[in-house]
Amino acid sequence: MRKQHGPDLKRRPALINRCTSCRGRGVVTGVFHEMDCTTCEGTGWVDRETGQALPAEQLVFTLSNRLLHLEQQLAILQRTQPTQENNRRGAGHSHLTGD
Ligand SMILES: [Zn+2]
Repeated sequence: MRKQHGPDLKRRPALINRCTSCRGRGVVTGVFHEMDCTTCEGTGWVDRETGQALPAEQLVFTLSNRLLHLEQQLAILQRTQPTQENNRRGAGHSHLTGD
């Protein structure tokens, strides 16, 4: 049985851009104080196609998805790049330093 195509059947991350009105800060400097950016509704992100604010649920899902990817990339980098922690961990392999 073929699946019906529809926007609600499968959640997909939206294409988003940082809001240009507030430069992704979510707030703009008003006359007296900072106010929520009306373009992105204070989220700092807009739909890439429409340039409008996204529903919070969709935005959170999209950002979570991005974060997951970034965490995975970071994990790969940490594995491939020699960091201090890795050096310490791998130190015993090459040369043991006794107490
Ligand atoms: Zn904004």
